[in-house]
Amino acid sequence: MFSMRAGLTGGIGSGKSTVGRMLAHRGAVLLDADQVAREMTQPGGLAMPAIVQTFGPEFRDTQGALDRTRMRDLAFSSPTSRKQLEAIIHPLVAQCLEDRARTAEDEGQRLLVFDIPLLVESGHWPRQLDAVVVVDCTAETQIRRVMARNALARNAIEDIIAAQSSRAARRRAADVVLYNDQLPLETLQSQVDALAAQFGL
Ligand code: ADP
Repeated sequence: MFSMRAGLTGGIGSGKSTVGRMLAHRGAVLLDADQVAREMTQPGGLAMPAIVQTFGPEFRDTQGALDRTRMRDLAFSSPTSRKQLEAIIHPLVAQCLEDRARTAEDEGQRLLVFDIPLLVESGHWPRQLDAVVVVDCTAETQIRRVMARNALARNAIEDIIAAQSSRAARRRAADVVLYNDQLPLETLQSQVDALAAQFGL
């Protein structure tokens, strides 16, 4: 049976996770790149040997997991280090998601949704997917939602938004745009239901 592979992306606070949950609720299999990346950097995680080899044992905490604070500081101050880290993690994540996708396809799952925060920036993902779904809203809405969710300061959120792809770049990469702004959750839910039906569920 044919399964469809859809990518799901959107800026911070766009509602990407909400849409992912709604799709999963309708029966889609959600493949979450961030979650896999976290698993890779747990004690015994597949990325840990290369991380220790590249950055040193001080980047491994006493449990054997990645010292996230230390790595975040380094990646923030050194673009080269950030690229090295991505060169370790991204191929492992891609391979793991591919394995899980094949398993789901073998089980006869109809719709696989790849939740990929950096989909638009990626040279890898757009080619692997049958359709790209972008969840979009204004920057002001992103800021309002994230301030409420994470208790972050406005300028910290503005910095995150500025470091991510622009709305225009995301929309260019999209086959489907869900415009999630000033929209009651029930309306978003019906749009997601319609999309799920279109995608074979
Ligand atoms: P992302 O995964 O894109 O960062 P989330 O899906 O976590 O975003 O949404 C951010 C916050 O905004 C969450 O608290 C979510 O419940 C809320 N939210 C998203 N869309 C809507 C909407 N249409 N109406 C009301 N709240 C929303």
